[in-house]
Amino acid sequence: MTDEAVTLWNRVLESLSGRVGAQMIDKLLRPLEAVDACSGVLLLRAPNDFTRDWVTKAYAGVIEEHLRTVTGEDWALHWSQSPPMSLSPSAKVPPPRVNPPPRTTPRTRPATAAAAPRTAVLHPSSMASPGGMHCGLSPRYTFDQFVTGPSNQIAHAMSLALANLTGRRVNVLFLCGGTGLGKTHLSNAIGHQILEQNPHARIVYVSAETFTNDYVTSIQQKKMEEFRGRYRNDCDALMLDDVQFLAGKEGTQDEFFHTFNTLYQLNKPIVLTSDVLPQKLQGMAERLLSRFASGLVGEIYAPEMETRVAILRKKAIQEHVQIDDEAAFAVAAAVSSNVRELEGTLMKLAIKASMSGRTVIDGALVRETLRIGARPTVTTVEDIQRAVCEHFRIKLQALTGRDRHREVALPRQIAMYLARVHLGTSFPQIGAKFNGKDHTTVISSVRKVEKLLVASSEVQQAVESISARLGFTPSQPGEKPSPRDYPSSGTGG
Ligand code: ADP
Ligand code: MG
Repeated sequence: MTDEAVTLWNRVLESLSGRVGAQMIDKLLRPLEAVDACSGVLLLRAPNDFTRDWVTKAYAGVIEEHLRTVTGEDWALHWSQSPPMSLSPSAKVPPPRVNPPPRTTPRTRPATAAAAPRTAVLHPSSMASPGGMHCGLSPRYTFDQFVTGPSNQIAHAMSLALANLTGRRVNVLFLCGGTGLGKTHLSNAIGHQILEQNPHARIVYVSAETFTNDYVTSIQQKKMEEFRGRYRNDCDALMLDDVQFLAGKEGTQDEFFHTFNTLYQLNKPIVLTSDVLPQKLQGMAERLLSRFASGLVGEIYAPEMETRVAILRKKAIQEHVQIDDEAAFAVAAAVSSNVRELEGTLMKLAIKASMSGRTVIDGALVRETLRIGARPTVTTVEDIQRAVCEHFRIKLQALTGRDRHREVALPRQIAMYLARVHLGTSFPQIGAKFNGKDHTTVISSVRKVEKLLVASSEVQQAVESISARLGFTPSQPGEKPSPRDYPSSGTGG
């Protein structure tokens, strides 16, 4: 901590008092520690990651504006993480930059002001990987920090298998699942694990969007040699995130096809992530799809209740916040389909807790913040249809239509089952909500799902996850439709 930094920060706080509420300044900004101020960079340290993220999102712009007001010069705000670092020229750590360009991961969206975040978080471990090579991996996304449960354990095991350099049998892994379920986390974890075994491994972790932009820029600037060098010759493991972005981009797909083949022949690990299975990817060349499906395909589903609670506990430890059991279960029950949302909710609660002087996030705070129980809501068949469509990522039209392919027939049957079991809607009424289907079709759908609930973990997970999304509690045996609910020719319910 330098005197200059402290003085500067105090001047900024004073100047901010006209713009930012006193409570926010006292609770959120004053606790920030001014570590160093040098070469137009003010380095602050936050008491926890939540505060840091909150300030970055809400106040970075205003702080930089007031830095300019009080000094007459342009300043950038950066974050220091413990252990303390110095920005002074004698320090070993390289000076922070906004979006430090990775050595092996090309920066394809040239740092246009619009694209680049205003501030960057300095993770000492991310500045250089053990081999001295920055590879675009997020230091937080390691296997250690990944919580496993039935929804992701296969994908997790496959990721570990791919990351094992000595016993590896296959070198292609395709991870797929909905947004915020851990695909990026796992692909980063593979990179870290490989680096742990071989610190000199040249890891290229890149989003398909960045790959595309890089490709286009390289063509424009006639730098294809370098481009191919980066992704083929100088690459020991490639992680291409969100491959669905390549849809319809034939030139990039073509280039990636050759990249893939080169790495494949050299037996280099290749990890692809996508929001859907390879066979469901639209606008993608057949030869690419067959390559994607040629290795391991690991699906990640929405986490079950217990996994969500475990994730919350893990994140709370990681972020140095305390959450009691009641609160963890209440949050996990309220946020069911997306881990990113789960994290965001925890962050919101942590801020609220610290602002209200609580040391622990408790059930009362969760109920108050998430307004649980504030508004009694009546769930309708349409709500169920929407939730089922979101879960399976299909269109409402397909759900209520006549297509008998499994990818729409199963969601349809599940929606009918949920409407029957949780809302008690009659079979004919359910049929009417599905484009006038006959009640006998509804009855056989409900029966089918009941059987699948015993036989298929995929169906179990889907029903559980959609139920959680809708706030349904698991049905008690007595609540299940009784045999009289299934008249052979009657209308039921
Ligand atoms: P995706 O790439 O599938 O959209 P991410 O990998 O970006 O999702 O995950 C979103 C956030 O949720 C990340 O912060 C990640 O660390 C966290 N996350 C997801 N799944 C898990 C898990 N099983 N354990 C711990 N954190 C998880
Ligand atoms: Mg992702």
